[in-house]
Amino acid sequence: GSTTTLNSDEDNINVVVRIRPLNEKERSCGDREILEFPGKGQIVCDTGTPGQKPKVFSYNVVFESLATQEDVLEYSGVKRLLEMAIEGFSCTAFCYGQTGSGKTHTLTGPPGLVESGASPYAPDHGLVVRSFVYLFQLIKERPECHFILKASFLEIYNEKVIDLLNPGTARKPLQVRWSKESRSFYVENLFMVDCEELDDLFAVLEEGMRNRSVGSHAMNTNSSRSHTVLCVRVRRDLRASADISCSTHGKINFVDLAGSEMTKKTQSSGKTLEEANNINRSLMVLGYCIAQLSDGKKRGHIPYRDSKLTKLLADSLAGNGVTLMIACIAPTRSNVSETINTLRYAARAK
Ligand code: ADP
Ligand code: MG
Repeated sequence: GSTTTLNSDEDNINVVVRIRPLNEKERSCGDREILEFPGKGQIVCDTGTPGQKPKVFSYNVVFESLATQEDVLEYSGVKRLLEMAIEGFSCTAFCYGQTGSGKTHTLTGPPGLVESGASPYAPDHGLVVRSFVYLFQLIKERPECHFILKASFLEIYNEKVIDLLNPGTARKPLQVRWSKESRSFYVENLFMVDCEELDDLFAVLEEGMRNRSVGSHAMNTNSSRSHTVLCVRVRRDLRASADISCSTHGKINFVDLAGSEMTKKTQSSGKTLEEANNINRSLMVLGYCIAQLSDGKKRGHIPYRDSKLTKLLADSLAGNGVTLMIACIAPTRSNVSETINTLRYAARAK
């Protein structure tokens, strides 16, 4: 296919922050809100330590707790990623944050919504379903092109890749390999579903989410310890041209990361320690890759190969892709140290 290059004056990493509303428990025990929003993209966080100045951070966009799912679609920049995916770029939108901060809510809405078989137009759907709707809208606007969409959905648990569309692989994890032809990493034998319409994409999401919760019960694991990657590949051919060099191959990954608090749980022992180290590694390597890229040190060594997650995201993190980081945080005192960690991680990526 033809190669598309990114306009160098546009950022290839965009960082936004979303604050979730107070929950019942925080309300009932009088947990105090510690964040202020003095200006566009700014967050001031009261550390709660006497004598310590509040910390000030700034990002591309900040979604306060009243922001809706539709606001996140409209203002996070994800629409640009989708527009670029159909032009042949590799794109990634990922949610980072401690367990309970709203990552899954932001991507796929409240617990059980997708699995309940709700209409794709239900108002609470998250960024993934809304993106599917927008993607088909974009495709409809381009009748001169023929699009082929293929979707996959996997989970990375303890550095093992499990196909969420073929849960038998939980017993025999899939291998991540390097393809010389496409010069990118791929997952061997990963199930890919042809998606001709919105309902097909929605069905992939629903199936994968069902398998994820069934699998986590069966293996007695916890979804906050694994990463999931839903990938939609978009091939575009010009209808009038038999010349395949006019074709483009883009994709968008939606990534729900493991809880960032896992990075410190290293006092635990046995299996949990191994897990914590592996999660730690993925999130650390991801943060490191992103920080390097956003520093403009693109020629330095970027350690994509150091974790499965970064291998799979490498093409969207590297020169020819675009990445959106959505940092999710809780608003209250009881979460302050995790919130500051997340705000720092996000600030490094900007
Ligand atoms: P995480 O995936 O980061 O562990 P969740 O997305 O599961 O966190 O969020 C924890 C709880 O808070 C869920 O019940 C979720 O529906 C709720 N929640 C999170 N963000 C929001 C929001 N913006 N509006 C309403 N409820 C939210
Ligand atoms: Mg979650």
